[in-house]
Amino acid sequence: MILVQIDNQISPEQKQFISEKISRMHCRYTEVLVKQKVIWVVEHKDTIDIRAIGSLEGVSDVHFVPDPYPLVSNKWRVENTIIRLGDGVEIGGEKGEKIIAGPCSVESEEQVENVCRFLKSRQIRLMRGGIFKPRSSPYSFRGLGIEGLKMFHKTASSYGIKIVTEVMERKQIDEMLPYVDVFQVGARNSQNFNLLDALGKAGKPVLLKRGISGSIDELLYSAEYIYSAGNPDIILCERGIRSFENAYRNCFDVNAIAILKDKSHLPVFGDPSHGIGIRKLVPQIGMAALAAGADGIIVEIHPQPEKAMSDGQQTLNFGEFDILLNGIKQLFAC
Ligand code: PEP
Ligand code: MN
Repeated sequence: MILVQIDNQISPEQKQFISEKISRMHCRYTEVLVKQKVIWVVEHKDTIDIRAIGSLEGVSDVHFVPDPYPLVSNKWRVENTIIRLGDGVEIGGEKGEKIIAGPCSVESEEQVENVCRFLKSRQIRLMRGGIFKPRSSPYSFRGLGIEGLKMFHKTASSYGIKIVTEVMERKQIDEMLPYVDVFQVGARNSQNFNLLDALGKAGKPVLLKRGISGSIDELLYSAEYIYSAGNPDIILCERGIRSFENAYRNCFDVNAIAILKDKSHLPVFGDPSHGIGIRKLVPQIGMAALAAGADGIIVEIHPQPEKAMSDGQQTLNFGEFDILLNGIKQLFAC
């Protein structure tokens, strides 16, 4: 693939000229607008000399990218993406937040308040919590919905904490938008291309989970959907894949973290809670994710996991979470 960065000052005639030149090379291109920058993603079958495009007037830069998901590849964008959420909260890079924590599901104001108070005391700036829950059984708790999100947002904001919450379908985006800092796309929606496209246009960062049986390539293609629709603020998240093994909930793929960091400039997170699904083993898997190069981890915590309305079996209480935090401190100190 070839990425052609178009000059902001380009004239219509220059644009037409470049377009014809690319067509004469038997290539197809897609125009992408990312943060006011126009990029043409050019697909080509034969090898072509990119200098022939790079020298044209109106082209500010051109890159050959040997990956089928060029925009999320680090073969053209060498510096890592840093996502700025406001109030000094960043994801990715040296100063990026390493922890997102919170309950699987938002359950009550008291619960949210309790978790916020705890996170604040540990200087954690990002809280997770589902209000639309994808559940295997239709009889399980499916979340408090938009009213729960409004309460979550109000409470978290009063603690200076940013919110990560799952969106399950396109029509939820608009009503959620004012209350969300990072949209989570769950494993079950990892290849819901219409949702990804819509999130590309929504203008808020996205934490994109790997599909239950999704390959690393498929995750990167899904990220490319969001990016090519105009949104470069994407966090890739390894959360375990389905395998023949049933000693744990999912097969947490530490390799994927190293591979994703090697292939992409996007921040990579690990989700040890869904990754192993067993409370007492979550801390070491969280540390394994960080040791493998993850920019951060997303962890399920609850004041009383045994009373949680979803995923209690893999949720840490505050004391257990503190053990993980201490482990992380030691990991980065040595
Ligand atoms: C969750 O984060 O609670 C969740 C449902 O995750 P996943 O989509 O990875 O199963
Ligand atoms: Mn969960």
